[in-house]
Amino acid sequence: MSSADDRRNVRAGHTHGGGTVKGFVHKDRSPPPSLNDSLEGEIQAFLTDEDQLHTYDDLTKVNPVTPTTVLKCLQARYSVKVFYTHAGCTLVALNPFQPIPHLYSLDVMKEYHCAPQPQEFKPHIFIVAEEAYRNVQGQLEPVNQSLVVSGESGAGKTWTSRCLMKYYATVAASSSVVKSQHTVERIEKRVLDSNPIMEAFGNACTLRNNNSSRFGKYIQLQLDRCQLLVGASVQTYLLEKTRVGCQPANERNFHIFYQMMKGATDEQRKEWEMPRGQRFVWLPNAEKTVDEDCFHETVEAMVHLGINAERQRQIFTILAGILQLGNVNFSSSTDESQPCNLEEQSKDFLQRAAELLRVPAEELQMCLRVRTLKAGKQSVLKPCSQAECSMRRDCLAKVIYAQLFEWLVTFINNSMCADKSTWCNFIGVLDVYGFECFQTNNLEQLCINYANEKLQQHFVAHYLRAQQEEYVSEGLQWSFVKYQDNQSCLDLIEGSPVSVFSLLNEESRLNRASDSKMFRVRLEKELCDNVNISWDKFSKVPHFTVAHYAGKVNYQIQGMVDKNKDPVPPELSSLLQKSGNSLLHQIFTDKETENLTSKGLSKVTVVSKFKNSLESLMKILHATTPHYTRCIKPNPDCKPLTFKKEEVIMQLEACGIVETIHISAAGFPIRIPFSSFLQRYGLITTYSKLKSETRVDLEADSDVLQREVEKLLRVLLQTHAVDPSHCLGKPNSWVHCGRTKVFLTQSMLDLLEDQRNKIL
Ligand code: ADP
Ligand code: MG
Repeated sequence: MSSADDRRNVRAGHTHGGGTVKGFVHKDRSPPPSLNDSLEGEIQAFLTDEDQLHTYDDLTKVNPVTPTTVLKCLQARYSVKVFYTHAGCTLVALNPFQPIPHLYSLDVMKEYHCAPQPQEFKPHIFIVAEEAYRNVQGQLEPVNQSLVVSGESGAGKTWTSRCLMKYYATVAASSSVVKSQHTVERIEKRVLDSNPIMEAFGNACTLRNNNSSRFGKYIQLQLDRCQLLVGASVQTYLLEKTRVGCQPANERNFHIFYQMMKGATDEQRKEWEMPRGQRFVWLPNAEKTVDEDCFHETVEAMVHLGINAERQRQIFTILAGILQLGNVNFSSSTDESQPCNLEEQSKDFLQRAAELLRVPAEELQMCLRVRTLKAGKQSVLKPCSQAECSMRRDCLAKVIYAQLFEWLVTFINNSMCADKSTWCNFIGVLDVYGFECFQTNNLEQLCINYANEKLQQHFVAHYLRAQQEEYVSEGLQWSFVKYQDNQSCLDLIEGSPVSVFSLLNEESRLNRASDSKMFRVRLEKELCDNVNISWDKFSKVPHFTVAHYAGKVNYQIQGMVDKNKDPVPPELSSLLQKSGNSLLHQIFTDKETENLTSKGLSKVTVVSKFKNSLESLMKILHATTPHYTRCIKPNPDCKPLTFKKEEVIMQLEACGIVETIHISAAGFPIRIPFSSFLQRYGLITTYSKLKSETRVDLEADSDVLQREVEKLLRVLLQTHAVDPSHCLGKPNSWVHCGRTKVFLTQSMLDLLEDQRNKIL
């Protein structure tokens, strides 16, 4: 029998030791480990012994479950180098900030992959990976899966996503090959090679993470009928393109520029006008060396994905052109009717930028210094101020870089996407930026935090609400842990008829000269009734404050409307269309046709575009079975094996883990349908011994079964000197009969198992 068949058999039967317990597995949970017949070490002391805290594999089993005990448990585990812990249906991953040998080796992958019950192994990202993999081949029909990896910057999301991709590339290797012009590659290799390219172009050193992803991504791993990896596709979100022309203090530009600067051959340096020691304004902190500065790896991955030498040359000369552009400065003009001049030392840089971008230098200069205003059929030329010139220069760099990135993503997709006829299911891995709250926050943070609100809502809807609703539908009534519903915050940001986004779009469309001011006035006037928004009227910097589920964030109003419009002067696009670099020419010509065919020339605003792409992502997520991994950054300085409690608790709260823990543990994490319950425990109680002749008909209807279960429990509890009236159906009880299932706490389950073992 093949290993795939093995897996399916195990999955279908949910074997627990000798017998098969049908329907034991709650949709959201792995089978409770203590349902195993061999219970060694599984029944834990109910009241937590602090010395034993590190042994708790699931935070919901710590007793009592409070943020403090949970924090202590994570800390205790971290101190003995245990980095993964379950929290109900979520996996918490603490970043070790140092390589952990053997934790992710091929052998470990195989162990988890081949285990009949991987969830009985120590918590690990491979459990999540394997569970999703087995779930794809659902019992009734295949179900697509999504692995949502979240956490703040530097917490380990990208690392985890890469690890998941490696896992599938290993255990689901199809060994099918793809041919391109010069190469024949195994598809798994291609999929993995997309990472170094996307990271080189989309990641940068920031204060929070030396390899910070400046874009979000959702990668779908495509599986064929035999569950083998046959292709992949990736969707990216919101590349932080402003970084090309403006790097925050002590941060860097995208890695690729430094890779070129450090890794180019002498010949390439000449071609790219990058002599050793040349200072580039847009290449700050070049002296800092990080592991990611590896040009040859990026180039190698490009080759593997089928980007040929000529295309590579085109890409790198474009990037070199951008760097030259960064050294171009303008002097202030005394005469407003005259355009600003280039600073003397900038002339050479402009000349070289033009050569590298393969556009006429004269025209490039004109585009940066003079604006063309269209009035009807006539054009009027208007000289730009010094600030406007710099803005146009930055805009040119931004638009080139963003389009180049988009082209790369499309290329990568074409190169690794399988033919639709060959794949039938997918596992999606989502790696998006976590919640952000900086000193100054603008449109970028608003979009990022909006995405996080959406994901949090999905998480709440999927897990917390599903749990509560099940209690209610089963007739269990009392108030559970209160969880925060963030719908009102989402309404504030994206709702209709009036929301921050709608006002922002309207102001962007109206294109008024004083749009920041108008935007502010309208926000205050039209959203004054919303409890999620507030203002500090006396603040020097105009801003509004949004109460997000993860905390309050101040958003600066200045510049927001402009960022939303994200205008590209038409002169710049037409200049680039004329480029002799066929790649540059192509990406701008395609762009133009796209705009013309879909929306005329009217541009889609940043928030509309982002909202749309997020909505399609949410649709996909809703149609898949989600698995959540919450990455936690244990200290702000990325120090190995250092655990700062305040940092961790803030993150646990920000991602809703605290609520999840409460709900899982304070409620009944274990649910067993009546018939399965009677089948397993019916024979082991005094009650059933007395009545062993009259066996319960397990096919009987729910009411009958419910009465039987209640009788059984009453007897069981009485023999243990527990007053059943304190236990059945009361808050804080151990067990409750719903309409079709028994709901148990871990303690009650342990008691039942204990009894069963004694009698057997
Ligand atoms: P994020 O994507 O959440 O911003 P990353 O995934 O880039 O964060 O992780 C930041 C750094 O933390 C990585 O570059 C790596 O050095 C380290 N790291 C993350 N997870 C692990 C892990 N499981 N084992 C070892 N190092 C890790
Ligand atoms: Mg990342």
